[in-house]
Amino acid sequence: MKNEKLTLIVPVYNEQKTLDLFYNETERILKDIDIMIEYLFIDDGSKDNSLKIIHKLADTDKRIHYISFSRNFGKEAAIYAGLKNAAGDYITILDADLQDPPSLIPKMLHSVIEEGYDCVGTRRVNRKGEPPIRSFFARIFYKLINKISKTEIVDGARDFQLINKKVANAILSMSEYNRFSKGIFGWVGFRKKWIEYENIERAAGETKWSFWKLFLYAVDGIVAFSTMPLVLSSFLGILFCMIAFIMILLIITKTLIFGDPTSGWPSLVCIIMFVSGVQLFCIGILGQYLSKTYLETKKRPIYLVEEAKLEDKELSKDVEKDVK
Ligand code: UDP
Ligand code: MG
Repeated sequence: MKNEKLTLIVPVYNEQKTLDLFYNETERILKDIDIMIEYLFIDDGSKDNSLKIIHKLADTDKRIHYISFSRNFGKEAAIYAGLKNAAGDYITILDADLQDPPSLIPKMLHSVIEEGYDCVGTRRVNRKGEPPIRSFFARIFYKLINKISKTEIVDGARDFQLINKKVANAILSMSEYNRFSKGIFGWVGFRKKWIEYENIERAAGETKWSFWKLFLYAVDGIVAFSTMPLVLSSFLGILFCMIAFIMILLIITKTLIFGDPTSGWPSLVCIIMFVSGVQLFCIGILGQYLSKTYLETKKRPIYLVEEAKLEDKELSKDVEKDVK
């Protein structure tokens, strides 16, 4: 175990208040651990002093490496860049705000090295400290996506995972542009163990997730891991054809029996409004899939690097060439 290395991937976006806290706390907990450590901070285009703090930390500790993006690409891109450039035999991803307790790392490492698991995931058993409305919608989202997707997406699962190289390579082989890690980690499979813990509030700073951003993220997740909405819109189409057919029969019969008094236009307006609403809804669903396909076909890089410091290793290929 002594010759093996554990890489800690830390996505960082405007975390000047938490970085020092994170580093000190992690060091305190991992100082006696029986494995070499590499910190890999991914600065996701922070606008505050995060990068300066990372520079300072890297000057004092040789095990600290970093990649800094040219702009904010999102946490998913940061995780991808981290996995691509990690030097460790084992890799863990944890937030800079100490919401993912580093104290679980020794236990997770033990499960992977001694118990033969490929991946150890963590899940919070409650959502203490979170606005109730957010928890409510989160619960609905997980219920819904697990009904309509074949990939299991575990409620409360964090991105805080510890994986071996095998799983890391499997995840990297999924080079899709629209990345939804919660689905990707489930999709690749392998032997997985879950560790549960109580929700911990942020050490400092603020969450980057507004309700609207979370909503869009949920839509991304559904589109990325289920085609059920498309099936649903086809069913709606068939259902409405059947209703229309029955109504035509009814109206013909009614006209034959009672003649043809001109009446019923308010109900007609309602029907037209309703049906066009359903049509727009279905076109919207189609549009979601189309837009994702559009972005995938462009094959844009998932992230671009402004500067980096890595272990004597060249920066991984799909990154800017002129990085020194
Ligand atoms: N983060 C990132 N890019 C982003 C947003 C967030 O790298 O665009 C990082 C952030 O710095 C933190 C982690 O992802 O280390 C989780 O973010 P946050 O704590 O805001 O999310 P929450 O824990 O509230 O879900
Ligand atoms: Mg957080």
